Amino acid sequence: MPLVSGLDVISECTSRGFVAGAFNTTNIETTMGIIAAVERVGVPTFIQVAPTNVALSGYEYIYDMVSRRLADTDVAVALHLDHGKSIEAVEGALAARFTSIMIDASEAPYDENVATSQHARELCGAGIALEAELGSIGGKEDDVSPEFASTTDPTQVAPFVDAVGCDMLAVSVGNVHGYAPNARIDFELLDRVRAASPVPLVIHGGSGLPAEQFGRLHAFGVVKVNIASDLRNAMIRTFGEAYVANQNEDSLIRVSKDAVAAIAEVVEERIRVFNPSVA
Ligand SMILES: [Zn+2]
Repeated sequence: MPLVSGLDVISECTSRGFVAGAFNTTNIETTMGIIAAVERVGVPTFIQVAPTNVALSGYEYIYDMVSRRLADTDVAVALHLDHGKSIEAVEGALAARFTSIMIDASEAPYDENVATSQHARELCGAGIALEAELGSIGGKEDDVSPEFASTTDPTQVAPFVDAVGCDMLAVSVGNVHGYAPNARIDFELLDRVRAASPVPLVIHGGSGLPAEQFGRLHAFGVVKVNIASDLRNAMIRTFGEAYVANQNEDSLIRVSKDAVAAIAEVVEERIRVFNPSVA
């Protein structure tokens, strides 16, 4: 099926009691691995890239690759801009027909975050899902670290969501980007944020969190969990192991297919951990 709006992924997950994985792609192997796993489990999913991917290719390449591979699948998948740090990034992804957008002005003062996120809402219109961030998630996001990290203030949640009109809210509740050995969700804080939020929540930094925390997220209003580092590592590991095993290895097709399988395995395992009810 064609790409669906992020709004459809949110509503289908909410009504069926699912947490959607949001998996960062970079290239054809990662895309094929993600979609192979999504077909096996049948859970609506986000595929995403951050603006940093422009250094390698661009939004149009990603759109073409993802939508072409999805044409012969029947699971709802949205194409999402991860960490749009500027209005230019939002405009670029929308021009390439992305169906879901994150505006991340979370490092700016509150009023500036509201104003920038409102601008993104206007650009997206009513048919594209918008994710905004309140509180700043720490750790390294695509080689870029925020200058400071701060947890989400529950008292700001309802006014922020009402002012912006976002469809989902990324929160900073102990989650950290990348592989952070001590990252833990503070469920007491997450519960206070959930109680205050009119929209479902998003957890970034899924690769660094202990697996036993994921199965509880649906009960805390979470609709989307981002996974990037795990997939990149699966790809790099596959090629690294092939080279270590044979420095004359030249079957790029075989090693690439191994990488697709390794990525699919990680994605399927994550979707099942997020959704213990999936058979
Ligand atoms: Zn993130």
